Amino acid sequence: MSRSNSYFNGIEQTDIQRAFMKHRHQVFDNVLDLVGKTPLIKINKIASKYKGNFYAKVESFNPGQSSKDRIALYIIEQAEKEGILKPGDTIIETTSGNTGFSIAMVSIIKGYDCILAVSSKSSADKIDMLKTMGAKVYVCPAHVSADDPRSYYQVAKRLHEDMKGSVYINQYFNQLNIDAHYASTGPEIWKQTEGKITHLVACSGTGGTISGTAKYLKEQNPNIKIIGVDAFGSVLKKYHETREFDEKEIYPYRIEGLGKNLIPAATDFDVIDKFVKVTDEDSAHMARAIAKTEGLFVGYTSGAAMQAIIQLGDDNEFGENDNIVIIFPDHGSRYMSKVYSDKWMNEQGFFDSVHEASAQKIQYIK
Ligand code: PMP
Repeated sequence: MSRSNSYFNGIEQTDIQRAFMKHRHQVFDNVLDLVGKTPLIKINKIASKYKGNFYAKVESFNPGQSSKDRIALYIIEQAEKEGILKPGDTIIETTSGNTGFSIAMVSIIKGYDCILAVSSKSSADKIDMLKTMGAKVYVCPAHVSADDPRSYYQVAKRLHEDMKGSVYINQYFNQLNIDAHYASTGPEIWKQTEGKITHLVACSGTGGTISGTAKYLKEQNPNIKIIGVDAFGSVLKKYHETREFDEKEIYPYRIEGLGKNLIPAATDFDVIDKFVKVTDEDSAHMARAIAKTEGLFVGYTSGAAMQAIIQLGDDNEFGENDNIVIIFPDHGSRYMSKVYSDKWMNEQGFFDSVHEASAQKIQYIK
């Protein structure tokens, strides 16, 4: 494309600018314009032995590489509209990493300070990324109860109480977390499947993704089945089935961002039809398998969601004409020192006789 002569007298636009104006949707004012509108990508191989058509909503296409961009932008803009957030204020949050990254990104563009309380379970990569994005980070012990003063919930709460001009996003107990997905993820999936979706399979952490998306989808078609993915060591599945918070369900596990040791108010248990639990080990191998078979480099919980599909498929959950949408929440690059490290996998005891043969493809030439 050439420049028009008129560019040089400074009055008219260049051809390039004119082309940009014509295709205005391709030029973005800043990175936040790219939040949402993520692709739905057909899963062609990994579940091919099961009936049904499988599609992944690949949230790593968000500019912050996870679904949390949606809630960060939505909640912050709601707070601005309501006059709760003013220029120069500080945004505080508890986060396993992804929400923190998204909040830090939005804070940079909008001119806020950002303080994040993260769990010591979060990978070192995630914590370094948050610092790179200008956030102040407090790392809090993972294996303490939610009401322990050292837990990341309590640390964030105290910081907020002590700091004037601060806003605590509180994603686990914020209805806006659900609303963000009701406003974007749900309508996108409905449109992308032309209303033909029959099942939604999504991980549940705060529950915002599954609850908001499900609420929108069930309003369009109440027959759509909503299946949550939970971790062994988390209370969500049992609570869904019995409405009992059972502390005996709680024990440490490795997957970050999935399951909970409390009942988040941002989870609407009524729109979820059932939960499936997956193990750390199966989910880790599945995340690796997604990369190798579908060419999609996604995070640990994407492996968990896909593992749930395998378990559901084994239970004959899906019919020939079903259209199953699986949410892949984030990108694989956040797990280089964990799931995508052979050393880490080995340390967890995940390379057993079944899996280890497929683990190593590197040859060291000496
Ligand atoms: N996967 C990852 C990697 C996450 O960080 C989270 C958020 N905690 C989830 C899944 C679950 O999403 P939600 O909080 O909306 O339930």
